[in-house]
Amino acid sequence: MQLNYIANTFVHSLSGKTIAVVDPSDGQVFDEIQRSNAADIDNAVSAARDCLELVWQHINAAERGRLLMRLSVKITEHADELALIEQRDCGKPVKQAQADAAALARYFEFYAGACDKLHGETIPYQSGYSVMTWREPHGITGHIIPWNYPLQIFGRSVGGALAAGNVCVVKPSEDACLSLLRVAELAAEAGFPAGAINIVTGYGHEVGDALARHPGIDHISFTGSPTVGTLIQQVAAERHCPVTLELGGKSPQIVFADADLDAAIPTIINAIVQNAGQTCSAGSRLLVEQGIYEPLLERLGQAFENLRVGPAAMDLDVGPLIRQSQQQRVWDFLSDAQVANIPMVAQGQIVDEAPDTGFYQAPTLLRDVPVMHRLAQEEVFGPVLCAMSFKNEDHAIELANATQFGLVAGIWTRDGARQFRMARRVKSGQVFINSYGAGSGVELPFGGVKSSGYGREKGFEALSGFTTLKTVVVRHG
Ligand code: NAD
Repeated sequence: MQLNYIANTFVHSLSGKTIAVVDPSDGQVFDEIQRSNAADIDNAVSAARDCLELVWQHINAAERGRLLMRLSVKITEHADELALIEQRDCGKPVKQAQADAAALARYFEFYAGACDKLHGETIPYQSGYSVMTWREPHGITGHIIPWNYPLQIFGRSVGGALAAGNVCVVKPSEDACLSLLRVAELAAEAGFPAGAINIVTGYGHEVGDALARHPGIDHISFTGSPTVGTLIQQVAAERHCPVTLELGGKSPQIVFADADLDAAIPTIINAIVQNAGQTCSAGSRLLVEQGIYEPLLERLGQAFENLRVGPAAMDLDVGPLIRQSQQQRVWDFLSDAQVANIPMVAQGQIVDEAPDTGFYQAPTLLRDVPVMHRLAQEEVFGPVLCAMSFKNEDHAIELANATQFGLVAGIWTRDGARQFRMARRVKSGQVFINSYGAGSGVELPFGGVKSSGYGREKGFEALSGFTTLKTVVVRHG
């Protein structure tokens, strides 16, 4: 049984209740976590407050950086172990789980180096005055994390917050939190003081809500669905608590007739099947210039048919979805496609070794999806790629910007001027040209516009979000 991690100690929830942990590859229960409540959040916040006031705020930035670096090294030493935990808990194929563990180590390495480089400014003002700005931590930051990339999202969110001088209370998803409990323990071994990183597990509407409402939480970093993002904002607004929101996406891959298709095809496929399509930045809409629509779909169709789906340990192209309700969600979308006569181009294969009790879904390529159909508007969060054609640049932009989301866009063209025109006009937090999501990109600021959220995590930019700016005016005559 897994326990909460508060003040560098494993503790039971005061609720006395637990939640079963299910392996998505076979649907079987293999562990249990604490079903925590508001009293557990109280304890975590008070441990964090003690740590902040008695220890953490007296550690200088360079020393903080060394601690983060020691944790990065520890994570690398335990990368295989962490990847195995993530593989089983999330159903991630081996290489994807390993990539996530490596990304976590890289986040702590990056933020280790950032700790002592967070400078303020001096501002010219009236004669007889000196003015400066200081970047100060919020204090205790709350982190609500989804199930799709626990290790990576912990790295970008908690790594940035610690680097900026905060202490953290983390609420991972009830569907995937085992790896983070182990990382918190590794942090203690690396020398993090008790209370700097606290992990409290449980359901969102119970312990997540309690975290968001707690008056001792000074900033909330939320990564998850737009619906819960709205709830978090409403709760935070009651006490004017700042929030960073990393929400969903319906990101377009825009392919012009002059694109290098040999380079584009594997990247387009990876962008929708990675993590079984359960990725906020999944390239889930494929917009193709008319002249190459048919030949591109033919090539993609062949590639989709070769994709193999199976248990995480088999390390195939695609693993299972996280849980049965997610599988049902994808099935509902696909049955809506049938009702609307949306043609299916191709599907991958679920291997015979995949247990019937696992949550598998074959990658599916659909074509001629009407732009306003829910398949082209809503996050499926499964390996379903929706293709449609466009006539020209204006039409491509119209389609690309026609959803509530604005997280990522991919643009495939050899025309340099068009690359810039498209990048300017597409409404999204990041644009990839002739590539898509290269590596973990820890250095690259990441976040959305519109219903994809606001604020930025990753990169140096995250440190602005995890700090507040104090302006100091000195009159010296
Ligand atoms: P979710 O919103 O259901 O849950 C996210 C987290 O919020 C979980 O820890 C959950 O327990 C918690 N939660 C749920 N209800 C809550 C409440 N009332 N109060 C406080 N916390 C609550 O999302 P999910 O299904 O776990 O993750 C998938 C979603 O996350 C997708 O929409 C995906 O696009 C998004 N996501 C976005 C990014 C990004 O960087 N933009 C990254 C990963 C995932």
